[in-house]
Amino acid sequence: MKVTVLGSGSAGNATLIESGDTRLLVDAGFSGRDLERRLASVDVEAGSISALLITHDHGDHTRGMGVFARRWGVPLYLTEPTRAVCAELLNGRERLVSYRTSEALEIGALVVDPFLTVHDAADPAAVTVTERATGEKLGIATDLGRPTATVRSALQGCHLLILESNHDEILLRECAYPWSVKSRIGGERGHLSNRAAAELALELYHGELCAVVLAHLSEAANDWGLARDVVGSALSRRRYTGPVEVALQERPLDPVDITALRQRRLPPQLSLW
Ligand SMILES: [Zn+2]
Ligand SMILES: [Zn+2]
Repeated sequence: MKVTVLGSGSAGNATLIESGDTRLLVDAGFSGRDLERRLASVDVEAGSISALLITHDHGDHTRGMGVFARRWGVPLYLTEPTRAVCAELLNGRERLVSYRTSEALEIGALVVDPFLTVHDAADPAAVTVTERATGEKLGIATDLGRPTATVRSALQGCHLLILESNHDEILLRECAYPWSVKSRIGGERGHLSNRAAAELALELYHGELCAVVLAHLSEAANDWGLARDVVGSALSRRRYTGPVEVALQERPLDPVDITALRQRRLPPQLSLW
């Protein structure tokens, strides 16, 4: 299974998951054109996308969903409350598929398990995606609010974790955002700090965790290197030696090939000779 974060942050989020001919997009927080441009930059044709699944109704996850789903005839997976709140992005010509946060979905070669978060949206979900043939598991865990027991349980056993590391608590306090925005971001239903992301990553660490991508970083209240240091140094205490990448707002990250990373971790074959 190959995973490409096409962009992440408060100005837009989208992640591409590929397994054979199955190409799943999770979230479409960029304009339709921008989404097509980002896909083209990683050599993927927009017309080859199998499905688009939206996690929640905020604009940084939904912006291009209607345009993209209509233009390319891509099935658009939404929960009912999310569809109701996003009505102005839809015109009835989309192939809508309703999903529930408590039920697994099969999409081609992939199984998607949505789970509820306490983020401040109408029906906030995060997802894990598992490749049926290999059991390779990805967690896309942004816009969490706080790491509830449901979140911590759902994210067990991931080979790749895309984890929200939104802000540094001191930078958030000192930045130019109005007080109301600061309290929303740092509140119980907002976004995870670097410190909270580090604690969650430590808790979720297991011997087969291959890669961590930090995502949804705040431009005003975080720093790329700081987020990586805080989470990376916590994980290194558990002898984690895999990559800790930081997703960017303006362009896609290089794809993370979970299969290749897992193979690299296997001990070399012992020779009998
Ligand atoms: Zn968001
Ligand atoms: Zn959100």
